[in-house]
Amino acid sequence: TREIRLASRPQGRPTDENFRLAESALPELREGQVLVRNLYISVDPYMRGRMNDVKSYSAPFALDVALDGGAVGEVIASRSDARKLGDAVVHSLGWREYAVLEAGATTLARTDLAPASAFLGALGMTGLTAYAGLLKVAEFKRGDVVFVSGAAGAVGSLVGQIAKAMGASRVIGSAGTPEKVARLLELGFDSAFNYRDAPVREQLRAAAGGNGIDVYFDNVGGDHLEAALAEMNVGGRVAMCGAISQYNATEATPAPRNLMLAIGKQLTLRGFLVGGQRQHSAEFAERMAAWLADGSVRYDETVVDGLENAPRAFMDLLDGANTGKMLVRI
Ligand code: NDP
Repeated sequence: TREIRLASRPQGRPTDENFRLAESALPELREGQVLVRNLYISVDPYMRGRMNDVKSYSAPFALDVALDGGAVGEVIASRSDARKLGDAVVHSLGWREYAVLEAGATTLARTDLAPASAFLGALGMTGLTAYAGLLKVAEFKRGDVVFVSGAAGAVGSLVGQIAKAMGASRVIGSAGTPEKVARLLELGFDSAFNYRDAPVREQLRAAAGGNGIDVYFDNVGGDHLEAALAEMNVGGRVAMCGAISQYNATEATPAPRNLMLAIGKQLTLRGFLVGGQRQHSAEFAERMAAWLADGSVRYDETVVDGLENAPRAFMDLLDGANTGKMLVRI
C-alpha cells in the first residue's frame, strides 16, 4: 500500500522535501480487525504542530513512518462481527491508501445522512469543534454578537452558520480573499471582511457597528485576538480554538498586546480541544444532521485528488487555498 511519510521536520513553512511517498506491505488481518480502503483523508492545521519534535497535546509524528490523521473509507475485508464488507467507517489511519486496524478503532459513518466525506467535516470532528466550541466553551446565547476568524475554513464556516441558526443578533467573519468574503455573505454571515485589506482592528470595529462583540471564536490568534479583545463587550467570552497565524512561526509573535483588557471587561478566555468535548457527540450529531437537512447549515469542501498530492494539499491548507474542509480523495 502507498503511504505518505514525514521525511524531515519543517523549519517554518513545510516544503515538498519534508514528505516522502513510500510503499509498505499490509499486515495480515488478525481476529477482530478490518481492512479499510480509504476514500478520503483529512489534512488539518494541527498536524503542523505534530511535525515539530516538541511535546504537545498530541505526540509528534515520527520520521520515516506513515503519517496519521482522520480518514473515511470502506471496509473491504473483516474479521470482526461488528463491521461488514461495504461499511463506511471513520478512523485515524489517514495519509495512506489502505489501513488495517481494530474494528473498535473505527466508527460507522451514516452515509444515509450525508456523503462519506462529510464525516471528516461537518458531521465529524470539524463539526464537533465548531458546535462545542461555540455552544459549550464560549457559552453562546441567543442575541449575542459573534465574531469568528478563519471564517471560510472548515470549522469557521460552521461556527458562523450555527450561531445564525441559534439566534445570534449579528455574525461577523474574517477571511483571506475577496472570494471567501463573498462566500461568507452567501452563507448568511451579516458581515465579512478580508483581513489582508486593512488592520483587523479597524475592520472589526466597523463590522460591529458600535455594538461590540460578545463571543469571539478564535482560529487565528495574533492580531485577530488582539482586535477581538479590543472590541469585546463586558462579560464577553473567547473560545480559543486555534492560532493558525503562528503555526509556521519561527519566532514568538507579540500580539495580543492588550490582554489586560480581560480584567476590566471581565472576559472569559477558554482554550479547548475537541477531544475533550466528545460527551457532546450525540447531541451534536443529531442537531447537525437536522441543520444540514433543513439547509440552515451548508458546508464547502476543497478536494484534491490522489494520495501523492496530500503533502501539497496540506501545504496549501496552511496557505489558505481551501474554502471549507480540505480533503484528499484517494
Ligand atoms: P481551515 O479550513 O480553517 O483551514 C485553515 C485556514 O486558515 C486557511 O484556509 C486560511 O484561510 C487560514 N489561515 C492560514 N494562515 C492564516 C493567517 N496567518 N492568518 C489568518 N488566517 C490564516 O482549518 P480548520 O477549520 O481545520 O481549522 C481551523 C482552526 O481550528 C485551526 O486553527 C485549527 O488548528 C483549529 N482546530 C482546533 C481544534 C481543537 O480541538 N481545538 C480542532 C480542529 C481545528 P484564509 O484564506 O482565510 O487565510
